[in-house]
Amino acid sequence: MPSSYVTCRVQSGRGVQCTAEAVDPDAELKICTRHLAEAMRLIERARRRAPKGEGES
Ligand SMILES: [Zn+2]
Repeated sequence: MPSSYVTCRVQSGRGVQCTAEAVDPDAELKICTRHLAEAMRLIERARRRAPKGEGES
C-alpha cells in the first residue's frame, strides 16, 4: 500500500473506523465518497430545518 493512500477518518457510532480511501488526501477533511455524500445529506437537512430568511440569500 503506497504511503499516499489516505483512509477516511469517519468512525461509526461503535468506534469502527471507515477503511475507504479519502477523496482528497491533501484536504483538511479526510473523507470517502460515501461519507461525503452523507455529509451533504446532513447539510441539506439542516438547511431545510433553518428558519426562513436566515443564512443564504
Ligand atoms: Zn468513509
